[in-house]
Amino acid sequence: MSVKVLLNEDEIPRQWYNLAADLPTPMQPPLGPDGNPVKAEDLAPIFPMNLIEQEVSQQRWIDIPEEILQILYRWRPSPLRRAVFLEKALGTPAKIYYKDEGVSPAGSHKPNTAVPQAWYNKQFGIKSITTETGAGQWGSALAFACALMGLKCKVYMVRISFDQKPFRKMMMNVWGADCVASPSTQTQAGRDILARYPDTPGSLGIAISEAIEEAVTDKTGQTRYSLGSVLNHVLLHQTIIGLEAKKQLQKIGEKKVDVVIGCAGGGSNFAGIAFPFIADKINGADIEIYPVEPTSCPTLTRAPFTYDHGDVAKMTPLLPMHTLGHAFVSPPIHAGGLRYHGMAPLVSQAVVEGLATPKAYDQLHCYDSALLWARTEGYIPAPETSHAITAVIEEAKKAKEEGKEKVILFSWSGHGLMDLVGYANFMAGKLIDYPLPEDELRESLKSIEGLPKAPMVRSGRW
Ligand SMILES: *Cc1c(COP(=O)(O)O)cnc(C)c1O
Repeated sequence: MSVKVLLNEDEIPRQWYNLAADLPTPMQPPLGPDGNPVKAEDLAPIFPMNLIEQEVSQQRWIDIPEEILQILYRWRPSPLRRAVFLEKALGTPAKIYYKDEGVSPAGSHKPNTAVPQAWYNKQFGIKSITTETGAGQWGSALAFACALMGLKCKVYMVRISFDQKPFRKMMMNVWGADCVASPSTQTQAGRDILARYPDTPGSLGIAISEAIEEAVTDKTGQTRYSLGSVLNHVLLHQTIIGLEAKKQLQKIGEKKVDVVIGCAGGGSNFAGIAFPFIADKINGADIEIYPVEPTSCPTLTRAPFTYDHGDVAKMTPLLPMHTLGHAFVSPPIHAGGLRYHGMAPLVSQAVVEGLATPKAYDQLHCYDSALLWARTEGYIPAPETSHAITAVIEEAKKAKEEGKEKVILFSWSGHGLMDLVGYANFMAGKLIDYPLPEDELRESLKSIEGLPKAPMVRSGRW
């Protein structure tokens, strides 16, 4: 029985897939401060124009430049593995396949977009990139990509992770990037927050404000900002995961996938594995598709779909998405990559349509799943990935009850070798669950009061 399927370099997908071209109902446009749809020029101080073009593209397939493929070959095509040892431990008839995105230099799926983003910035003549990072996965991925491209990289890292996860900061430094804890005293946005909340653990919303501020206030005009998830072009770059997985499943003779799962923070790895299969679902395939989030940050499962800012200082346009409110400060769970208040508009719209059905799990449940995985399969998952694994285990058990040989596919978004402190705390019994209390959700949603409402448009087909 095969436990892995590899593709040769010449079998790598040469185009990214853009779900925006196929959604049965069109996306609502991002809105500017005046309430009108933003124009490409409005985004020009923040992003290079070649990425803005991808952001607004309605083209189904977008060519991957050869120079980007040459870099992706360092770890792509990534292996498709089969978790036969977990299957055996669960006694399930289901077949569990996973795309191993932990093999990239930074250890997660994030370099799949960090490399193209750095490349397009360089093409546009940009010299320096600013960004935010939660757990440090995105900061380290962008630091790696900027090192290859000879670009300067400055990372604002959410304070709690900066303290909990010093190794990620060291990785950024190894790749030549500058990493500071956010909120910092280096920006107006950071100083404002610190004046009001001197002990704040920080949030992605705050760190994004700081990074955008630094980019747009650079008088030379040679700095731009980069976001590691949420935006259409980021999700686009990640679709290489699902496109490769399709080829690999075909290669070993799997004709049909029944369930596709990915954990969802901003939605990029979920989109990466799932969007090519959502395309099949739109064309009639019968596939269950589950984005998975923590109960402490229940964006898709409990928050409304409406217009909101991507950051606390309201520097980003208003995006149509599921949102807990831009002032949301997540409880300190270890899955730092799943603590964002919003969700990618494309993922949100897929959920509104009923093309994907979100699930949420508690932290301790996810660590239990991670230990079962590590003690059967061997690899140690990132705490974010353990949310997907929890859903996989649930589906595999369901398949056992139903006696069905289902094919389950999920995105192994990253390894957990930089997250061992979380594991140690879990095993010492020091972690707790933080399901978001209803009153805190209500409080946080006050930050979207008065903002325009996004209409929930669905075709009714799913
Ligand atoms: C960042 C990250 C996530 C969550 O981000 P998405 O944009 O939702 O994919 C999940 N897993 C890992 C390992 C991450 O680094």
